[in-house]
Amino acid sequence: MSPTQRDEPLRDLARVHALRTADWRTDGVRLRSGVVDRLTAAQTFLPRALRFLVVSGHHGPAGAGPCPDAADHATGGAVDLSLHVSGSPEPALWSAAPPPEWPVCAAALTAVGMVGGDTWWHWSFGDSRWCASTGAQAPVYDPIP
Ligand SMILES: [Zn+2]
Repeated sequence: MSPTQRDEPLRDLARVHALRTADWRTDGVRLRSGVVDRLTAAQTFLPRALRFLVVSGHHGPAGAGPCPDAADHATGGAVDLSLHVSGSPEPALWSAAPPPEWPVCAAALTAVGMVGGDTWWHWSFGDSRWCASTGAQAPVYDPIP
């Protein structure tokens, strides 16, 4: 991994029109640019009626945020996702079971190099979980205050 990857900026998803964020996230969602690129690529593998619904991205240590696993989001490499199905209301968040269409999403995320977490909605690239899962020598991203 190139050292310069660690300096990747956080990108505000409000400026990334390919990716949909949950309507209630009016405070914005930010992710490392390499993760934004991976999500955008993974989405192209989905059936046309499906889009990722980005629920949560980077959280600094002070901002716990709304998600149950905020501590895992310190690097900007982790994302909580759900699914937007064309013509359907937004699905319930943090539900125990994933949407029925989720296997195709998981396959797409895996194909772009992301790894899943303890829950179906948590995925990451470049953080310590990703490092342990892939056998990489070091994480790509450090925590961002
Ligand atoms: Zn998460």
